[in-house]
Amino acid sequence: MTDQKKVVDILLGMGRVMEENKEFLTDLDNTIGDGDHGINMARGFAEVEKQAEGLAGKDIGNILKTTGMTLVSKVGGSSGPLYGTAFMKAGMTIGAKTEIGMDDFLGGLEAGIEGVKARGKSTTGEKTMLDSMVPALEAMKEKQAAGADVKAVLEAGVAAAEAGVEATKPMVATKGRASYLGERSVGHQDPGATSFAFLLKEICNAY
Ligand code: ADP
Ligand code: MG
Repeated sequence: MTDQKKVVDILLGMGRVMEENKEFLTDLDNTIGDGDHGINMARGFAEVEKQAEGLAGKDIGNILKTTGMTLVSKVGGSSGPLYGTAFMKAGMTIGAKTEIGMDDFLGGLEAGIEGVKARGKSTTGEKTMLDSMVPALEAMKEKQAAGADVKAVLEAGVAAAEAGVEATKPMVATKGRASYLGERSVGHQDPGATSFAFLLKEICNAY
């Protein structure tokens, strides 16, 4: 089981990973977007970090909702509102719990993905974050249904997210700024899909 403190620790870890990979993510976005994805993500999680002390006393649904609102309000670009919506929807679905298990996490992620799809008017195959999120969720649901332990479920998710990132390379972007490039977006991995794989890996590393 995962308690509030661990959720906050993971959020702080996500901030470190976004900071460490800021340049890499920004370089990816330079190639097919406007070169700010790493900056956006690092800034957003730095704002979350500023609230960390206050967060720890809240229930897990509230921690995630507050995180989401911070990302929506403090991060420019499309990734802030999209990731922010994902965290808010996950928080609403998980609700006022002080401990969660894998079923809660997967339910939260599923709601988060639905939130991204609705807010982004997007789906898989369009070279976005959804192309690592959706296969990761599917792989984790499958492992969970097979009775695997938390670590094995998360590892399967990370592997699927990373494969999803690779799979964005041959895709033509049809959503977001990369879509302005059309065919010229082919051959490059999507920054948002990449940041999600990093975030999920950070969750996995916590177990
Ligand atoms: P911006 O594109 O506004 O500069 P970022 O660079 O921070 O914002 O984020 C870009 C990422 O956001 C893309 O790599 C993609 O994964 C994701 N993205 C953009 N538009 C959408 C959308 N409509 N649906 C899902 N994800 C999207
Ligand atoms: Mg950008």
